[in-house]
Amino acid sequence: MAMNPKPALPVRKSEGSKPVQRPQDVRRVNRASVLELLRERPCSRSELAQMLGLSKPALGDLIGDLLEQNLLLEDTPTPVQRGRYPAPLRINPRRFCVLGLDLSVDNCEAGLYNPLGEPLEILQTFSGVGQGAHEVYRRLLRASREVLSKASMPVAAVGVAAPGPINFEQGQILAPPHFPDLHNMYLVEQLQRDLGLPVYLEHDSAAVARQYLGSTPAENFIYILLHRGIGAGIVIGRQIYRGQHGFAGELGHVSIDIDGEPCPCGNRGCLENIAGTTAIELRYGRLTRTGLELSAIAALAHSGDPVAQLAFEQAGRALGWAAVNLVNLFDPELLVLGGPGAAHADLLIPSLRHHLNTRAYPYLGWGEHLPIEVDTLPKPVGIGAAEYALGAVYRGEIPLPLWERGSA
Ligand SMILES: [Zn+2]
Repeated sequence: MAMNPKPALPVRKSEGSKPVQRPQDVRRVNRASVLELLRERPCSRSELAQMLGLSKPALGDLIGDLLEQNLLLEDTPTPVQRGRYPAPLRINPRRFCVLGLDLSVDNCEAGLYNPLGEPLEILQTFSGVGQGAHEVYRRLLRASREVLSKASMPVAAVGVAAPGPINFEQGQILAPPHFPDLHNMYLVEQLQRDLGLPVYLEHDSAAVARQYLGSTPAENFIYILLHRGIGAGIVIGRQIYRGQHGFAGELGHVSIDIDGEPCPCGNRGCLENIAGTTAIELRYGRLTRTGLELSAIAALAHSGDPVAQLAFEQAGRALGWAAVNLVNLFDPELLVLGGPGAAHADLLIPSLRHHLNTRAYPYLGWGEHLPIEVDTLPKPVGIGAAEYALGAVYRGEIPLPLWERGSA
């Protein structure tokens, strides 16, 4: 497949790479921290002050703003025997919502999420892959508008996750090998124009890592998104690592077989052509001359079919080799498997684990001691996209939509 002309490389450092110094930055971080803590559970002012290490006037000022914007609700103090019980603060779940979009080869998902990240409406349709950029975008826009029409509260922002590589500076999808319809699409500009909302574009593997942050206390972890393609969401110090140009995490195009089959990315023997969900289907199909889908092959593997077991085992072995490289490079405290391929993680992990244990600096037992978790969310990408948009609202980066006093 011919690749499009090479675009100029954007410059994008990881989030959090700039030291927080300006007062407005400090305020944004504190504002987001207050909301993140209250998302977990209602808290009193004194609990928040203690957890955040903020002075009472500084916290009072911040909370006053959030109450004024109707982002927080404060329950009436409950009298107790020895004085007044401090009033708990909580996030107003009806103040606004965000639109989370997942644009993948297999489908296009549009969902509405409340300020707590809870789904309100989800719509899934065929992505239109192979039908050209115009049709793919038309389907995404139609799904977005249909879901937005059901919103019962003001919509603040849109988060959209797409396969990479992505030029984050330009809001542009560059050249996902399995989705040529998206090549060089300026998705942020188009969606902002057509929806009239701020749009935040995220790499799909970074989006899933972002949503998993809410499920783990791990500071440093790598989320391997297994679907037709394979991506890695790299989290360092609880921040997404993007690399110098925003291209970090293209794990699917790490060469596992250096003399292997050519990949549309221009490399050879890429991981996703060996361990992606389609690669497993193709391998089984070549061996048996059938055309079964992944779930059917998994069912056969579970029933003892040796060819089906082999198809998964070889994918797990390639993932194990990739995991060895990740461990040696990043020394993470956790690996996470997620996405459609992870629904069959039990068939992949034995072989993955064997190679990880025997190749990742076995003298020191690096692989053996590394936990592997499976994200059980069947479709984590849309949630991650919504989380990206929610984060922007939490940090106060975008003005909140208007609301009528007493309506929410
Ligand atoms: Zn490749």
